[in-house]
Amino acid sequence: MSTSYLEKYALGGRLAVITGGGRGIGLACAEALAEAGARIVLLERDEEAARDGAARLAAAGADTAWRLVDVTDPAALDAAALAIEKETGPVDILVCCAGIAISGVGAEVATTAQWRQVIDINLNGVYWSCQAFGRAMLERRRGVIVNMGSMSGLVVNRPQEQASYNASKAAVHQLTRSLAAEGAPRGIRVNAVAPTYIDTPMTRYGMRDEALRRAWLDATPMGRVGRPDEIASVVLFLATEAASLLTGSIVVADAGYTCW
Ligand code: NDP
Repeated sequence: MSTSYLEKYALGGRLAVITGGGRGIGLACAEALAEAGARIVLLERDEEAARDGAARLAAAGADTAWRLVDVTDPAALDAAALAIEKETGPVDILVCCAGIAISGVGAEVATTAQWRQVIDINLNGVYWSCQAFGRAMLERRRGVIVNMGSMSGLVVNRPQEQASYNASKAAVHQLTRSLAAEGAPRGIRVNAVAPTYIDTPMTRYGMRDEALRRAWLDATPMGRVGRPDEIASVVLFLATEAASLLTGSIVVADAGYTCW
């Protein structure tokens, strides 16, 4: 008998781990997954962000825990995965949201440390998170991973200079497709979302420049930036059985930016 659509969109009792889940898009994803019934573990490097995010989820009635982990530390991710599997249960869903952007710094002047920092968090951090949590998923032959890519991994957005960010996100897309191909025969789905500019703590600083904001809106067919909940809705869909045929997909949620 086929499952009803409402059942396909439900996550009752599933356990979801969200890196960078204490604020911004990660927190919105946690809220969406929790509302669909998932239990949540936030991974953060900053205790205040972790506590605040968890408190907000708990206030909404979500079953929430948090752990301090820096995604640039593969050993810490492995330890977190083992501890969560032992103490909280099998992880069904991994959402990789931790990321940073260094914008407005041309390649001519960007430092080696800046390049390394962006690649280490945005690309290596996703790879190591997927490895750490994916191993048990592969053993169980069940699991879903959603990575946060970016429209900047598909086109070079203007007029920001952020080669390291753009390169890291393009690599996340190809990493997602590679892991999807590896995981598919063993029941693991891996997809990515490629958002446009979303109003979060990460972008508020860059968007304080009115000329930049105007240039951005003029280049966007819908003429607006996005909200975290609009990306969380896509992540929620990808995390559920409603997306059972999707793996290796880069779902572009960009207000039409890449149409022009
Ligand atoms: P935020 O800065 O609001 O949130 C990112 C979170 O990731 C923060 O809580 C941050 O913690 C955490 N984080 C950063 N580095 C690490 C690390 N090494 N280990 C663990 N956690 C870390 O950003 P957004 O919500 O805007 O972005 C979330 C994701 O979405 C990122 O991958 C970003 O690239 C992507 N994205 C965002 C877009 C946007 O316009 N906002 C557009 C397209 C993609 P801390 O507070 O310590 O920095």
